[in-house]
Amino acid sequence: MLNIVLFGPPGAGKGTQSERLIGKYGLIHLSTGDIFRANIKGETELGVLAKSYMDKGQLVPDEVTINMLRSEVLNHPEAKGFIFDGFPRTNAQASALDAFLEEQKTAITVMLALEVEENELKTRLAKRAEISGRIDDANPEVIANRIHVYNNETAPVKDFYQAQNKFVSINGIGTIDEITNRLFAAINN
Ligand code: AMP
Repeated sequence: MLNIVLFGPPGAGKGTQSERLIGKYGLIHLSTGDIFRANIKGETELGVLAKSYMDKGQLVPDEVTINMLRSEVLNHPEAKGFIFDGFPRTNAQASALDAFLEEQKTAITVMLALEVEENELKTRLAKRAEISGRIDDANPEVIANRIHVYNNETAPVKDFYQAQNKFVSINGIGTIDEITNRLFAAINN
């Protein structure tokens, strides 16, 4: 199986690039942010809970997120592999994912980390807010909080995969095609 963690701060291009990777490698795309948003739309219990964190730019608690992710993976027994987009976002999530994949007799192949500097992220998120309709893209304070949470809780997850020699840094500045080609090259390496 080819299991990719597509990593990066909010606005790095994870969603856009995931679309390219699924097309090429036939993977299942699991975006925890998208799944939470679908639950909010469907007004489920999980959606109500997730919304209370997402609107403030905070992380949804690990236990809730991990349980949701596990059931999504189990829903795709025929998958050739997965792209995990926006997950894991804490070291606890990364450890839980490793343990769970081991139970499923598979593992993460590689973490591809899109690197984009902070001012560029803020510009991209402000632009995205005009079309995404996402509350958490529209408010500068919430954006700042999401970047803060990324730097403090999420960025350390790189070290988790670095320690397993699975970490690959990708320059996230350039055209969409240029960045896609960098990702393809890293996967085929
Ligand atoms: P995203 O679409 O990846 O930018 O995620 C939007 C929001 O969903 C985040 O700001 C968090 O509130 C929540 N979220 C998404 N993925 C996770 C995760 N792995 N752990 C905790 N919260 C998450």
